[in-house]
Amino acid sequence: MDGLKVQVPHENYHQELISCQVACPVHTDARGYVRAIASGDFEAAYLIARGPNPFASICGRICGAPCETACRRGKVPRVDDDGHFVAEDRPVAIRALKRFACEQAGPDSHPTDVVLKKIQLARPSAAANAEEMAALLRAGVEGKFIPAEGQRIAIIGAGPAGLAAGHDLALMGFRPVVFETEPVAAGMLAVGVPAYRLPRDLINREVAVIQALGVEIRCNTTVGKDISFSELRADFDAVIVAVGAKSSRSLGLPGENGPRVYGGVDLLRAVSLGTSLEIGQKVVVIGGGNVAYDVARSVLRQIAYDTARTAARLEATSLVHLVSLEGLEEMPADTVEIMEGDEEGIERWNGWGPLGILRDDEGLVTGVEFRRCLRVYDENRRFSPVYDDQDRKVIPCDTVLLAVGQSPALNFLENGGTDVQMMRPGWPKVDPATLATTADRVFVAGDLAHGTRLLIDAVASGKAVARSVYQSLTGRSITFDAVTSHIVLDRYRRERGYESIRRADIPTLHPSERLVHPDAVVETGFTCAQAMCEASRCLDCGVTPIFDGSRCVLCGGCADVCPTQCLKLVSLAELITNDDLNQAIEQTLGPDIDLTEHSAILKDEDRCIRCALCFMRCPAEAITMERVTTSISWRTL
Ligand SMILES: Cc1cc2nc3c(=O)[nH]c(=O)nc-3n(C[C@H](O)[C@H](O)[C@H](O)COP(=O)(O)OP(=O)(O)OC[C@H]3O[C@@H](n4cnc5c(N)ncnc54)[C@H](O)[C@@H]3O)c2cc1C
Repeated sequence: MDGLKVQVPHENYHQELISCQVACPVHTDARGYVRAIASGDFEAAYLIARGPNPFASICGRICGAPCETACRRGKVPRVDDDGHFVAEDRPVAIRALKRFACEQAGPDSHPTDVVLKKIQLARPSAAANAEEMAALLRAGVEGKFIPAEGQRIAIIGAGPAGLAAGHDLALMGFRPVVFETEPVAAGMLAVGVPAYRLPRDLINREVAVIQALGVEIRCNTTVGKDISFSELRADFDAVIVAVGAKSSRSLGLPGENGPRVYGGVDLLRAVSLGTSLEIGQKVVVIGGGNVAYDVARSVLRQIAYDTARTAARLEATSLVHLVSLEGLEEMPADTVEIMEGDEEGIERWNGWGPLGILRDDEGLVTGVEFRRCLRVYDENRRFSPVYDDQDRKVIPCDTVLLAVGQSPALNFLENGGTDVQMMRPGWPKVDPATLATTADRVFVAGDLAHGTRLLIDAVASGKAVARSVYQSLTGRSITFDAVTSHIVLDRYRRERGYESIRRADIPTLHPSERLVHPDAVVETGFTCAQAMCEASRCLDCGVTPIFDGSRCVLCGGCADVCPTQCLKLVSLAELITNDDLNQAIEQTLGPDIDLTEHSAILKDEDRCIRCALCFMRCPAEAITMERVTTSISWRTL
């Protein structure tokens, strides 16, 4: 018989089980705020969400939510009343719950000074590490953290990376100044992400809190035009380049250069800022990712709105085509984008690659020719499309929008930044540990540092570069002392029936209401009752049953009562031994024991739903429910 492969819990084992927190690039304790919502403590929920993330409210609306992908609830098997496997459950709707928490207590509903006071006075909760910002402020007051001496830091780009860096630098005692070419701050969040997903006044409120902490933002200031890079290097103690990747990539297709072919992000910028871009009535969007959907859905709204305003018949639907190389299953766009796009009337074409843009004698776009794409990736998941050249088609249109990726524009380095070496054209060489470039006191952050990713990756990068600048300019590093404790929960109980509650659909406007105004926000968000119910689905992975082998009477009651059959009582001889296991056995039972005479309780972490039935059933009080918490105190070294 094959043996059982087991893992012996190591020092950080229980913290690593909180998979939502591990997956978040800024390590937000999602479990902490979701459980706080479940218990009705919305203020605590907001503070936990805001602690490590100055963009918490915005993340509540649009974060790519790696926490949800990692959520253990999405991996637990759902069984029917007879105990038969039905399907895997779905993750907790963490992002929508974050929105709810922020709406209750954050800048969505409170003035800047009130929010500021809340986050500055936040006290540690059960999830103490979450209030990183308050902890940092406290450490400064308590003399454990030696602040910087007001050195001036120039940040180029007021996107999430630049502003997150500015936010943390201000907390550390620097004077950050952010230079932004656009008339508004927040980067792609303000000039890329459409207002129907992210309301503009919410962006302004979130940014206002960052400014109130001491970050100066100079909009309408282009580095390379209004001020040179060499001036910044001369006038400031360090420079952080966080200019993102704003230029739309082209495809080099015949007919691509000329009127009415635009980059997708240029279209989104024009829509966001209310500037004009000549768009026709029949539009082809090339691309299959989230940006392509933002472009297609924005155009659809624009056409519908303009048509309605001119009292013409509303025939916008079916006039916006989205053409993706990938088949439906392989499309990089989120499922919700594809579904909502379909609902709104985007004409989706999967498995077609563009061959050329057709123009008439006057140079006007008349259509795009495509050929069938049979396969996009090879066996090693490398991009390697294969086409059927015989299978072609033309989609007639008068406007083409390309949403096939972006790249950075670093022309400003010509004056004062030639010592910034490139890794490949357009992308600087970066030390991944420090985010330093090859030039003295020049750092990078965000999309420019790691390529286009999610908003929360840019925030994490901005925070990392702030620490790196601190270390570089002060010669001290920021570190923390972590104290992990196991708190025994004598009265631990879960909400009744929490294990069978299905994930709530996030409420949205009916498709017919969405196109009435281009800025009509599609997601309407959870009500209080919906939020508390959805939050109660969280498995609370920070709590875990702990087994005391010395008390166990081997009755097997815990395994019998477990509704997901995650516990198993086995002979030690059945286990495949490894060094950790041998060491654990020797420590508990001594050397040279007969394995067949001893037993172990095995726990399948993927299945455990923290219901505590094993704890309640155990006749020998050998099982305790324990919450694992880590409290962190910052200091300088
Ligand atoms: C259309 C679109 C939709 C997206 N949707 C989502 C989403 O739903 N969820 C998600 O998690 N992520 C999303 N992303 C990704 C996310 O927006 C980015 O990863 C993030 O904005 C990158 O942050 P950044 O600060 O590095 O760069 P940016 O946000 O691009 O900010 C860079 C800033 O630098 C400024 N700048 C550039 N050059 C200069 C100069 N010479 N002088 C002064 N200022 C300059 C720019 O104007 C810009 O404001 C989306 C991206 C796009 C393009």
